[in-house]
Amino acid sequence: MTIRAKVLWFAAVAVVLVCVMGLLLFGLAHHGQRQRQQLMALQEQIDSYQRLHALAWPFLNQLAQARQSQTDTRRVPEELARQVDAEMARLADSFAREGAGALETENQEQTRREHREVRAALLRWSSLAERRVHELHPHVSIAPNVEWLLYAEFEQTVGQRIQEVQDEKRFELEALQQLLDVSVYVVEWVALCFPVLCLGLVMLLAMAILTPLRSSLQGLIHAAERIGHGDFDVHTHVASRDELGTLGAAVDRMARELRESLEEKQRLSRAEAEASEREAARYHALLEDTVRQRTAELGEANLRLRDSLQQLQSTQEQLLSADRLASVGRLAAGVGHEINNPLAYILSNLRYVHQELAELTGVADEQGRQEMLAALSEASEGAERVRLIVQDLKTLSRPDDVALGPVDVAAVVRSSAKMARHETRDRARVVEACEGVPPVHANAARLGQVFLNLFINAAHAIPPGRAQENEIRVDARLSAPDQVTVAVRDTGAGIPAEHLRRIFDPFFTTKPVGMGTGLGLSVCHRIITALGGDIRVESEPGQGTCFFITLRVAEGSTGDSTQSAA
Ligand code: ADP
Repeated sequence: MTIRAKVLWFAAVAVVLVCVMGLLLFGLAHHGQRQRQQLMALQEQIDSYQRLHALAWPFLNQLAQARQSQTDTRRVPEELARQVDAEMARLADSFAREGAGALETENQEQTRREHREVRAALLRWSSLAERRVHELHPHVSIAPNVEWLLYAEFEQTVGQRIQEVQDEKRFELEALQQLLDVSVYVVEWVALCFPVLCLGLVMLLAMAILTPLRSSLQGLIHAAERIGHGDFDVHTHVASRDELGTLGAAVDRMARELRESLEEKQRLSRAEAEASEREAARYHALLEDTVRQRTAELGEANLRLRDSLQQLQSTQEQLLSADRLASVGRLAAGVGHEINNPLAYILSNLRYVHQELAELTGVADEQGRQEMLAALSEASEGAERVRLIVQDLKTLSRPDDVALGPVDVAAVVRSSAKMARHETRDRARVVEACEGVPPVHANAARLGQVFLNLFINAAHAIPPGRAQENEIRVDARLSAPDQVTVAVRDTGAGIPAEHLRRIFDPFFTTKPVGMGTGLGLSVCHRIITALGGDIRVESEPGQGTCFFITLRVAEGSTGDSTQSAA
């Protein structure tokens, strides 16, 4: 049965119960009303019989008066008959009210017969009494004893009958009163118990409907929660044949289908996993073979690379030497010029002293002696200058001296600037501000080569002729507790952006053939990185260029052990 049908049933039962309760109460009230009417009718009948009984004495008195007044006594029974009929009519009326609605029964017929008998007996007695009185002598008045005799006759014939009927009616009245009491008692209990009974019945019905509904709903909720948690092994246990039963069956079916599809999926996943494991094992084996093969190939390639590396290293060494040679070559003219000057006046002075000494025969005069001493002193100074130039050249002429140690940056910069002087002299002022920084961990010859290259490049970036307007400035500072940064800044032409990322490439040059090899900066980069340092450039075309060289501060270096450019 559907929930809607159950609810309709419930409502119908409740309505029927209410209707039955209303009808029952109406019937009981109606029944009580009827019993009360019967009670009143019976009482009226008893009263009527009482009044009929009481008619005897007035009748006898009227009869006596009529006899005494010599009037016609036959009118007295007629009067009584009228009174009796009037009373009988009331009696019939109350009797009709008593039995209103009831079926015509033998009992009622008997009562009517009693009425008729009482009336007949009463009328018979009245006519008998009137005849007796009429038969008396006209001048004889009715003595009290006659009245008593007539009344006694009345009592025997009519009064007794009336009394009997009255007793019956009283008995009926008492019975009816008892019945009424019982009815009232029953009505009270029915009015009390029937609603309670109906309420209980309605509650039972509601529980009979709601309890299975509740248990079905609980089963559904429990099943839904378990399905929500991924447990598809559920059964709702909803056995009712209503919508919830249908829903429960649908949920059971859904859970079963989900479980089956999950199992199918797991089975497929397992199969897929096994297949992928097999595939992975196959790939693994294949990979191992490939790796093994590639490792062998790599080993061979490694060997080839190592050979190439060795070749490269030797090529780089050659390049380094080539660059150094190029630098020396570039400097050769300047150095030759530098040496040529002092050599010229050394030779000239020596020739002068030689000539003077050759011509001198006696003791030289003081003036001649002073002049020769001055010439020798000048020659000695020129020789000293040559020595210094040679000493500077030694910085570049020690290709195998790669020992690392504390290096005084200021001294190396000073030496490199001197060697590059021939190139810078006509182009820019060289300003050195490298004092006060701690020695760096480097090789003086290599570092000197770096600065020489940077000075020559800076000089080449500045057109000759306006030396006072341009500047090549070298600043050294402690950029970190264990780092020294040297900045070589010039006011030259600068480097275009498209060249900036290529200037450290070997053989990259913008200079004409014979002027540049394109090796200078690549060698600088190699030397600085080999020293554990860093070299980078910033340039603004038309404004100038700045190279930053960062080197580690030498550990535990002292002034004594510091390498110098000298
Ligand atoms: P080279 O000097 O033989 O050309 P380098 O490697 O020393 O080789 O320099 C590469 C190029 O970098 C130079 O040709 C030049 O164009 C550019 N360059 C280097 N230093 C400077 C600088 N200070 N100002 C402008 N250009 C520079």
